[in-house]
Amino acid sequence: MPEKKKNKTCLRVGITGGIGSGKTTVCRIFAALGVPVYDADYWAKWLITNDPEVKLAIEALVGPEAYLADGSYNRTLVASVVFHDKDKLAALNAIVHPAVERHSAAWHDRYAALGKAYTLKEAALMVESGSHRHLDFLIVVTAPEALRIRRVMERDHLPETAVRDRLKNQLPEAEKAALADFRINNDGTQLLIPQVWAIHQILTVRARLDN
Ligand code: ATP
Repeated sequence: MPEKKKNKTCLRVGITGGIGSGKTTVCRIFAALGVPVYDADYWAKWLITNDPEVKLAIEALVGPEAYLADGSYNRTLVASVVFHDKDKLAALNAIVHPAVERHSAAWHDRYAALGKAYTLKEAALMVESGSHRHLDFLIVVTAPEALRIRRVMERDHLPETAVRDRLKNQLPEAEKAALADFRINNDGTQLLIPQVWAIHQILTVRARLDN
């Protein structure tokens, strides 16, 4: 009797970091190495607009005005409601985060079936949302706050106050870095490509050892 083929290990790797730390820039390098990258912030927005169950749950929470007549998400209205109501914000997160978790798990399984060594999930609020608990490894990209703020101001043409407002939703970088299996230093003193390459080698070998 032929031995039953064991499912190959495909590691779940997450990448996070503070605003403007360079997550997307780093993910582009991983993608260039052939690593599948899941952009959790993009897919959260997609699910809010396209997933019927998520839409129903948000309408039940906020009211039918959460969506405009053309079906598009009324982000401004929903944001204004949850901004003043912590319980509603928690309830909204309890709708969206599990939906992203299910969607990313199905996405990961497709690449696992293709024999990929690992997939990479990028999320700004990965630690804040607790989704890092579903990973095999966590990468944290770090850079000093002043540099991160300057990079985002230049990228998004925003005043400093607007960038600092976004920072308020985020845990301090040190708390995220303490949870990291791998850190990528993006303060401009170290090249990114060699750092990504070193992590890629370790993860590829690790997945092979697990098989
Ligand atoms: P956000 O938290 O807003 O999603 P992010 O962590 O994904 O941001 P990026 O968008 O990758 O960060 O980087 C922020 C800006 O800084 C971008 O304009 C990017 O091109 C620039 N940047 C990132 N890393 C470097 C670097 N090492 N040298 C110069 N510019 C950089």
